[in-house]
This record gives sequence, C-alpha cells and structure tokens, in this order.
Amino acid sequence: MKQCPQCGSTNVTVQTRLEDIPYGEPPLTIPATFPVDVCGDCEGEFIVHEGMLARDRAVQDFLMPHPRVTFMQLLSELYPETVVFRTMSGKVRAVAMIKMLDEGDPIALAWATDVMRDARDIIARQALWGG
Ligand SMILES: [Zn+2]
Repeated sequence: MKQCPQCGSTNVTVQTRLEDIPYGEPPLTIPATFPVDVCGDCEGEFIVHEGMLARDRAVQDFLMPHPRVTFMQLLSELYPETVVFRTMSGKVRAVAMIKMLDEGDPIALAWATDVMRDARDIIARQALWGG
C-alpha cells in the first residue's frame, strides 16, 4: 500500500504525466511520459523511483537517434571557440566544426566518427582494466 509522504494518507493513485524535460545547454526539449503518485487527500504529487527511471529513459531514447546533437553539445562544453582540430581537409576551429556538424558536412561527420571510434576504444580499454 502506497502512502503519501506529505500527509500520510494511503489514498494514493498512480497517474501518468507528460512533461517537457530541458536537456543540455542550450536546452533541448525532450518530451517524457512518466508515472507519478497522486494523493487523493492533500493533492500532493510525487515523482517515484519508476518515474525517475522513465524520465531518464526518455532522455536516453531521445538522444540515441541524435548522436550528432549529443556530439555537438559535447564539443561546445569541452572546447572553447579557439581550439583547432585537425581533419582530412585541414585545420578547423571548434566553433566552425560545430557549425559543420550542424549542417551535416561529410568531412565533419567523418571526423566525428573517427573521434567516436577513438572514444569507444578508450572506454573499452578502461572497462577491461577496471575489472
Ligand atoms: Zn497526501
């Protein structure tokens, strides 16, 4: 039996909420559906553990088909505008690289794919060492 953390009532029902979750900077809006506990007596509304998991999953699911967006955000967070990357077509400033990725430029995407592969290798190695 669920109990309201605010008034102690057991008149608690599970309802579904739809909410736009802001993610990243500048924030993307990610629509998430998740369960909340609603108290029938004090009208308190509480996000439960399953609700938190559902929100996390909504963010993951949203980002999954958008690796380019994730990557651009990562670049913006990690590198100041003045950093220069080496690519197949020469040196490109971070700020230009982000713009190229945004426009789907094939050279920028190839570069991003290389970086992602390196990152995967590093993570895989760490996973083996981490035991
Ligand atoms: Zn209550």
